[in-house]
Amino acid sequence: MIAPPTGGPPENDRAPGADTRGNGGDADQLSAMKRRRAGSQRLAILPCGCADPWTHRRAPGAYAEAAQYLAACGLLPAPPDDVAELRRMWREGDRELAGAIATAWEVTTVDA
Ligand SMILES: [Zn+2]
Repeated sequence: MIAPPTGGPPENDRAPGADTRGNGGDADQLSAMKRRRAGSQRLAILPCGCADPWTHRRAPGAYAEAAQYLAACGLLPAPPDDVAELRRMWREGDRELAGAIATAWEVTTVDA
């Protein structure tokens, strides 16, 4: 017989027969994923519409906006994780800033 849900988080959500040594067995991993998922469902929806912060990805153009903001403050933005972001800035007309970031950080030539 299955116990009725109590409404609170489970005190022990380990599967029967699960590896209790804590060495990362499949049951431990599944349990951790379920707990993480349940935790994400308790959070408020993010302003971008994402329900789960783990799967949230920054919006396209976010790097350019952040870089423009930092440049307006007189700061040199850090280079993006992906050079494609600088190339996009260059193509979309922010050539001076994209070139300054690429030159200052010796990222690459921005000629795409
Ligand atoms: Zn998001």
